[in-house]
Amino acid sequence: MNGLDPRAPLVLDTRELGRRPGSQRQVSRTVPAPADLGIEVLSVPEGAPVELDLRLEAVMEGVLVTGSASAALEGECVRCLEPIREDLEVTFQELFVYDDIRDAEGAEEDDEVSMLQDDLVDLQPLLRDAVVLALPFQPLCQDDCPGLCTECGVRLADDPDHTHEAAIDPRWAKLAELDQDPTD
Ligand SMILES: [Zn+2]
Ligand SMILES: [Zn+2]
Repeated sequence: MNGLDPRAPLVLDTRELGRRPGSQRQVSRTVPAPADLGIEVLSVPEGAPVELDLRLEAVMEGVLVTGSASAALEGECVRCLEPIREDLEVTFQELFVYDDIRDAEGAEEDDEVSMLQDDLVDLQPLLRDAVVLALPFQPLCQDDCPGLCTECGVRLADDPDHTHEAAIDPRWAKLAELDQDPTD
C-alpha cells in the first residue's frame, strides 16, 4: 500500500488526538485545492484556497471526521457559456477505521470503508466527493438562462427581444455583400 505523505496539505495526523474514545481536536487550515476538485464545467481551480474547519473525534473503531470546506468555484454556464463564479460551502462526515484493529479482526477488504493509514487521514477523497455532490449537474448563470440564439449565437439574456423575422440583420447583410464578390 502506498503510504500517505504526512506533510501533504490534505493529510491529517491523528496521533495527537490519541485513541481514548471521546477525545476531540479542532483543526482549521487553509489548503491549496487539489486538481480536479469539481466537475468539468464547474470546479475549484487547482491551487485556489480551500478553508477547512474540522473536528476529529476518537471513537471505538477509529476517528470520526466532521467538517466543512469553503472555496470559490469557477466555471461556465452550460447554456450560454457565460463565466460563473460562486462560493461553495460543503459539509461532510466520515469515519476512518483504525487499520491495525481491522487487520487484527481479519475483516474482509471493503473499499467502501475509509481507513486510517499509520494514524493518518487522507481527506482528499472525502473533500472531492463532498464538492462534486454539492455541484449542480448543469451549472447555469441564472436559473432561467435562455441560452444562445440558435440563428446568430447572441446571448439571449443580454438581448431577449431580438428576432430574425424577415429583416436581415445588418451584420449579415454585410456578409451577404461580401459573398457576391464580382470576381467570382
Ligand atoms: Zn447562461
Ligand atoms: Zn439571434
